[in-house]
Order: sequence, then structure tokens, then C-alpha cells
Amino acid sequence: VKQVHTLVIGAGSGGITAAVTAAGFGKKVLLVDKGLPGGECTWSGCIPSKALIHQAHIHHTVRQVIPGHVPNTGEAMTHVHQVQQRVYSHETPEALNKLGIEFLQGKASFLSTHNVQVGDIEIEAKKIIIATGSRASIPPIQGINNVPFLTNESLFQLDTLPKKLLILGGGPIGVELAQALNRLGVHVTLIEMLDRIMPQEDVDFTKSLTQILLDEGVEIHLGMKAECIETTSSGIRIQGTRGETSIELEAENLLVAVGRTPNIDGLDLDKAGIQYTSKGILVKPTMQTSQAHIYAVGDLVGPWNFSHMANVQGIQAIQNSIFPWKRSVSGETPAWVTFTSPELARAGLTESEARSKYGNSIRVYTFDMNDLDRNRTGHIGQEKIKLILTKRGILLGATILADRAGEMIGEVQVLRALRVNLGRVGSIVHPYPTYSEVFQKIGKKVLVDNLLLNPLVKLVRR
Ligand SMILES: Cc1cc2nc3c(=O)[nH]c(=O)nc-3n(C[C@H](O)[C@H](O)[C@H](O)COP(=O)(O)OP(=O)(O)OC[C@H]3O[C@@H](n4cnc5c(N)ncnc54)[C@H](O)[C@@H]3O)c2cc1C
Repeated sequence: VKQVHTLVIGAGSGGITAAVTAAGFGKKVLLVDKGLPGGECTWSGCIPSKALIHQAHIHHTVRQVIPGHVPNTGEAMTHVHQVQQRVYSHETPEALNKLGIEFLQGKASFLSTHNVQVGDIEIEAKKIIIATGSRASIPPIQGINNVPFLTNESLFQLDTLPKKLLILGGGPIGVELAQALNRLGVHVTLIEMLDRIMPQEDVDFTKSLTQILLDEGVEIHLGMKAECIETTSSGIRIQGTRGETSIELEAENLLVAVGRTPNIDGLDLDKAGIQYTSKGILVKPTMQTSQAHIYAVGDLVGPWNFSHMANVQGIQAIQNSIFPWKRSVSGETPAWVTFTSPELARAGLTESEARSKYGNSIRVYTFDMNDLDRNRTGHIGQEKIKLILTKRGILLGATILADRAGEMIGEVQVLRALRVNLGRVGSIVHPYPTYSEVFQKIGKKVLVDNLLLNPLVKLVRR
């Protein structure tokens, strides 16, 4: 039996971060994965999708000066594969070893509360972190198991792209890929069962994004329920309905992106007495499972399926596994970006979430990004920002649709974390012409409103 202090199962974003943190505290760490280190982020998620989006951006730009330009999708996919290797070179077993982490390849399953089997090796660990992630959910649509559809795992392994693709699912993954693939010359049809894409985001913003996709040529079917899938001589056919109307769509291939399923099968969680549901392992805010020395992090527990959230949870789990005091991962800190063009970034609450939590005692500031000179130097489009503040002027949330929204949301996060009154930002110099100037402009308005809302000023004015 091999004995270690910390055993980490799953070498994705959450697992690697946890292992690096534990090694940093001088603990003997064994990191196990059934595949190569890197997990979804490196091989089938963030990295290949952002590399594909980079290629899509180049070809979209070229097409604006050379109409009719046809992208070479083989070259685009070669770039994707090179980027995966570039990132992986920092996560190889050798690179991890230099950080004091031992890596073992194999599928892990629990034998008891402290013992885990990996291949023919039995491991005994004082503390265990489970970070086995999630995979694409496969919806129970008639015929789906008889067709060779793609998921995020197989898509990025392709050497060239299909000419025509159906995408099932209008969530962030489906939407990001729909735009990127369409810009790379794939005829994309996006199918969403609900009446709008990305329902967790502010409706004003998703409407704008839908229009952007339509203008670029993505075919979108909202409110369509896919009912039957079958192969044809040239690819795949989906039959479905929208209300009373039946719809039939055909393409060379199908990408399924309708949600995520936690990877819990085969772990034999019952043998360790770890509680779980079909949605994943149950954890406390400290990331502890029903067994106090076993922690679970990342997509496996949610509720945010993002690499940076898996990292935050992984670091907290290790700290809690080492120190006697246990800290919780805050549910208020998340922020995320959907890497469309323009990017859609979100931090904290949307307007409707804030209204249901605080009623009408919130302040909402919207700004058309086209009123910034930085936007005017490029193109005039759908870009905008909405900030939700408390009555006093503290940020509760932000939604930004802009070219660099993913970078801008960082400033929102700092202001939120430090609980800075947005009125103060009105006098903080932001370089001209930049997208971030918008915070200073809104800040000036907030400062004036802060004064007007001051009870003393109100009295004097009256
Ligand atoms: C297309 C796409 C784009 C995305 N883009 C972004 C983005 O831009 N930004 C962002 O923050 N997030 C993005 N995500 C989400 C992000 O990839 C995940 O949230 C993140 O990878 C989750 O990390 P994790 O550690 O929980 O799991 P994973 O990274 O999935 O790692 C789990 C690991 O566990 C291993 N494993 C599973 N079962 C076992 C077992 N029994 N024994 C041993 N090993 C096992 C797996 O092989 C895997 O390596 C994207 C996802 C997709 C699909």
C-alpha cells in the first residue's frame, strides 16, 4: 500500500491547483488521472475553444477586407492542437514533478474512507480531494445513440471542420462555438429548446448577442424541441417541433452542448460513505464531503462550471484540509465571460436577480458603449454595459457586452471585493480612449446621484 498525505483524484483545473497548493505547504502529494494532466480546460474546454476563437477572429477580420475569403480549417485546427501542446508543456508529469507532485496515470476508485485503488496500486491517504470534473450531457432524444455526434471532447480532436454543423444547446458553450465555427466558414444551425439563448444572463444582452449571431449568418432556432435524430446519406437529420410547427434540419454533423453531467461513475463513492446525487457530490461551503477528510471541487460539485472557480475551490479545500479552522468559498465572488465577439462578461447579480433579492432599493446604470470614442474608432454595434448598485452606490453586479469585456470585468471584481462606492471611481483617471473609461463616466453620474440622494441635500433642495 502506497502512503501519501494528500491524494488528488483528477488532474484538471481544480485537481492541479489543489496538488500545487498542497505541495507548496510541503505535503506529500499524489495526483491521479485516467488521462493526461490538464483535464477539460487544456484538452476539450477553455484552451482549445479560445484558440479556435482566435483563428475565427483572424478569418472574420480578413473577410472584411477580402470578401469571399475562405478559411483553411485544417490550418485553424493545427493551431488549436499546437496551443493545447503549448499549455500542456507546463502540466506534464515532469513539470508537475518539479513542483513536488507525483503523477500517476490510472482510473481511481474508492476502497474505503482512506484507501483508493488506481490500476494495481492501492493508495492510503490522510486527505483526499476529488476533482473528476464533468462531461457533456447527452439528452434522451430518440435515435441519438445511433448517430456519430460530436461533443466538446471530440470536436477539438478534428483535423478539419465539417461544412455544415447542427449545434444542440444555446448555452455559453454552444453560443461561443456557433459564432467561432461560423466565422471559420462552417454553416452553423443553433438549436435551443428555450425561447432565448443563455437564460442565466440579462435578457437585454442576450437579445443583442442573438442579433449579432444572426447578422453574421448563424441560423438560430429558438423554442425548438428536438425529438428524433437519425443519420442520412450525407450526415445527420434532426426532427423537432416549435409549438405546433414541425421542423426538420440536416447537416454533415451534430455537436451536443446541452449541459454537463458530473463524473462520479466508477468512483465507488459508496465504499467511502460519500454522499452524492445525479448532480454531483454533495459538499459544504468548506468543500468538505460527508466525510470530513474528503473534499470535492470543480465541475463535479458546481454550481459554477468554470476553471477559475475550480481553482478557488481547490485552494480552499487544501487549506481547510491542512489547517484546523475551515473557511468557506463565498457564493458572492463569481464572475465569468462568454468569449463571443463582442465578449459577454458577468459579475455578481443581474438586474432581475437583484430586484428579486432587494426589491426596488437598487440603482441601475446602463451605458451605450457606442458613446465612447474608443468604440467610435472601430465599429458601432450592440455593445453596452449595465451596473447594478445598492442604494448607497456599492456594486452588486455587472453585465458587459463589449470587445474587451473579459478584461473590464476584472475592474468590476476589484471594486466589488473592496466594496468601493462607485461614485469614487468618477475621479479616478482612466486612459483615453479606452473601453474602461466607461467606469469613470458612470462613476461621475453615481457621484452626482449620491449627492442628490443624500437626505441633507434632499432637505436643502426642498
Ligand atoms: C468548450 C468549453 C469551453 C470552456 N471554456 C471555459 C472558459 O473559457 N473559462 C472557464 O473558466 N471555463 C471554461 N470551461 C469550463 C472548464 O473547462 C471547466 O469548468 C473546468 O475544466 C473544470 O475543472 P475540473 O477540475 O472540475 O475538471 P476537469 O478539468 O474536467 O478535470 C477532471 C479530470 O478528472 C479525470 N478523471 C475523471 N474521472 C476519473 C477517475 N475515476 N479517475 C481518475 N481520473 C479521473 C479526467 O480525466 C479529467 O482530467 C469550458 C468548458 C467547455 C466544455
